[in-house]
Amino acid sequence: MTTIDSDPGVRRMRSFGTTIFAEMSALAVRHGAVNLGQGFPDTDGPPEMLEAAAEALRTGHNQYPPGPGVPVLRAAVAEHQRRFWGLAYDPDGEVLITAGATEAIAAAILGLCEPGDEVVCFEPYYDSYAASIALAGAVRRPVTLRPGAGGRYAFDPAELRAAFGPRTRLVLLNSPHNPTGKVFTRDELGQIAELCQEYGAYAVTDEVYEHLVFSDAGDAHVPLATLPGMRERTVRISSAGKTFSCTGWKIGWASGPAGLVTAVTRVKQFLTYVNGAPFQPAVAVALGLPDSYYEAFRAGLEARRDQLVAGLTDAGFGVLPSEGTYFVTTDITPLGGTDGMDFCRTLPEARGVAAVPTEVFYDDPEAGKRLVRFAFCKRPDVIDEAVRRLRA
Ligand SMILES: *Cc1c(COP(=O)(O)O)cnc(C)c1O
Repeated sequence: MTTIDSDPGVRRMRSFGTTIFAEMSALAVRHGAVNLGQGFPDTDGPPEMLEAAAEALRTGHNQYPPGPGVPVLRAAVAEHQRRFWGLAYDPDGEVLITAGATEAIAAAILGLCEPGDEVVCFEPYYDSYAASIALAGAVRRPVTLRPGAGGRYAFDPAELRAAFGPRTRLVLLNSPHNPTGKVFTRDELGQIAELCQEYGAYAVTDEVYEHLVFSDAGDAHVPLATLPGMRERTVRISSAGKTFSCTGWKIGWASGPAGLVTAVTRVKQFLTYVNGAPFQPAVAVALGLPDSYYEAFRAGLEARRDQLVAGLTDAGFGVLPSEGTYFVTTDITPLGGTDGMDFCRTLPEARGVAAVPTEVFYDDPEAGKRLVRFAFCKRPDVIDEAVRRLRA
């Protein structure tokens, strides 16, 4: 007689429940709340890109694209990195198209880490990181970002150094950083680069917000791969979702030296093989848009950040600086809050707004206990309504 296990799931994934976004978005729907929890835009991307996708659908681009991605997109990804960051990658062999940045991150970790290898990452971290590290049987070594002078998030250099060791395989870096809105400075990146080289570690960089660094941030976006000695050891990841407001398309990419990209491809080909055939040529069109697109996109998000920050400040939140991304974090202490999770579970019903507690993005939940993240990638009228409700 065999018995059915009540939880047949593998042990290394058991600590992962439903993502916080699903929980808070469900609460938002139940209470008719304005959803500033999940970070997706509520407007469509550039019309040229949408038209190109429709055209591709109608003209037979509906079968498996080539494994590494359609040539026109790989060429556009390479050209975009040359144009904005002065980075040269060969579209044949050094660029891989993936099912969003999420797949690129998972395939990079699974392709580069042996069980027991260590991954240095900064907490709070994007929620797929911990899951991908666990799937690989690797071990995360988090370094905590804490609000410091002027509320700006920073890490303790000694803590970063202590996170590296003989088993460090790679550092996983997200800048501009979700959920904090922090943009790592050239000096901070220099410390990371130095440690990677000292310990022979690779870097995997998640740069999906590469075009969202606001005008009052101290530094512009600096890809880690542009620092001396780093191109050869970095897998650089980005995607179309955030830059072109098409998060549902799931077109991402990884770039790096051929050896690293081959290691990522080896895994990626058996996860999804390929995806998004008609969207790939459309994203190539979007990447080639003139500088005016990128400037207007950044200025538009910056204006909405300012609008939400003013409203949250007015409503009594302790607002921490957001230098980039779609997000701003707030301290709920001035409102009498002590637990961000409780706060966010009651906010949709109490105020008709949904947000996300950042404590779920820490290994050490105490570090983020009173912090709550709001998204401002929404139409101005939607932000206005959220602010009106929060001030009521
Ligand atoms: C949205 C997001 C991603 C996911 O990108 P996809 O292209 O949708 O897979 C990855 N990393 C960060 C930090 C994000 O905010």
